[in-house]
Amino acid sequence: MKYNADSPLNIAAVIVCAGKGERSGLPYNKILHVIGRKTVLEKSLDTFLHTRVSHITVVTSNDDISAVRDITSAYDNVTVTLGGDTRAQSVYLGLQAYPCDIVLIHDGARPYVTEDIIEHAIDSAIEYGSGIAAVPCVDTVKRVKGDKAHSLPRAELFNAQTPQAFRYSEITDAYSRANGTFTDDAEVYESAGYTPRLVEGAYDNVKLTTPADFINPNKSCRIGIGFDLHRLVEGRKLILGGVTLDYHLGLLGHSDADVLTHAIMDALLSAADLPDIGVLFPDTDDKYLGISSITLLKQVLSEVERKGLRIGNISAVIIAQQPKLAPVIGDIRRSLADALNIKVTQINVSATTTEKLGLIGEGNAIAANASCLLMENTDGKN
Ligand code: MG
Repeated sequence: MKYNADSPLNIAAVIVCAGKGERSGLPYNKILHVIGRKTVLEKSLDTFLHTRVSHITVVTSNDDISAVRDITSAYDNVTVTLGGDTRAQSVYLGLQAYPCDIVLIHDGARPYVTEDIIEHAIDSAIEYGSGIAAVPCVDTVKRVKGDKAHSLPRAELFNAQTPQAFRYSEITDAYSRANGTFTDDAEVYESAGYTPRLVEGAYDNVKLTTPADFINPNKSCRIGIGFDLHRLVEGRKLILGGVTLDYHLGLLGHSDADVLTHAIMDALLSAADLPDIGVLFPDTDDKYLGISSITLLKQVLSEVERKGLRIGNISAVIIAQQPKLAPVIGDIRRSLADALNIKVTQINVSATTTEKLGLIGEGNAIAANASCLLMENTDGKN
C-alpha cells in the first residue's frame, strides 16, 4: 500500500498495560502509580493526545480494568480493551479494537515519552512502514554460550524502546501470522518479512520496572532559591526560624519579620513555580500584621503539597554580625523541621558574618539565603 503523506491519515495508538509489573515491588499495577499529580498511565495519554494521534486503545487486565476505566473516562478519544495472556496477545487484541492507517504501540510503563519521539515515529511509519524508538547501547553487550563470552560491536547495537509505529495493515498482518516468543513489536514485524526502521528515542524514556525506578524517577526534582533582609531596630523581638532569641534588637517588618523563614518560603515557592511571598502575603494587608511567619510557612507547605511536591531538603544560611547564632542553630532547625513536617536532617541552617562590613556588618540588618530541593510525590498518594 502506498501512503501519501499529504492525505489525512487516521493515526491511533495502543497502550499496553495488561502486565502485572511484579518486579516493581508495588502492591498495585505500576501504571496506576502517581508521579507528581498524574498516574503513569495519564502521563502517557496526555503526551500522545498532544500529537497527531487521534485515538488511543488502552489494553488492560481484568484486575485493573475498573481503575483504568476511571482514569480514561476523563478522555473523549480513549477506549479500553481487555488483554490476553501474553503481551503479544494483548497487542493483537488492541490492534483489532481500532483499525486505522498508522498505529503506535507503546508500553504503559514508559511515562516519559515525548511528543517529538511520537511524531518522528509517525513520520517514519508513513514514509518507510515503521518507526521504532531506540537509543544507542551505552554498555558493551556480550553474547554468552556455555562459559564463553563474545563481545558484540557496540556501534551496531541499539536498545529498542516504545513507541513503535507501523502501518496498521502491515503490523496486523505480522501479528496474525506471529508464532513464537517475541519481546517487542518490531520483532513480530521482522518475523513476517518486514524491515523495522529505527528513530531516535531518548535515554529518559525509561520503562519503569524495578523499585529503584520508582524511588528515583527521572524529571522529578525541582530546585528553588530565596533571599531576604530585614533591618534591626529597638523595640522588636528577634525571631529566626520561629525561635525567639535573647537580643536587645529585633527585625523590623509587617509580619514578625522572621528573615530566615521568609527566605525559606521564597525558595519553596520558587521551586514549586508559585508566586513569591510578597504576592501571596502582601505587606499592605492588615491580615498579616504581626503574624507569625511559621504560620505562613505552613500555608506555603500546603501550596507546595497541592502541586504534588514534597521537600527533599532545605539548605539555608543566616548572615548576621550579632548575636552569636551557633548556640541556637539546633533549636532553629528543630522548629523549622516541626513546622514543615520533615526530619531535622532535611533542613540545614548555617550562620556567617560579613566581617563587620556593610549594613549587616555594622549590626543594622540580618539577611538570609535559602535553597531547597522539591521532589514530585512518588509514594502513590497525591
Ligand atoms: Mg521578609
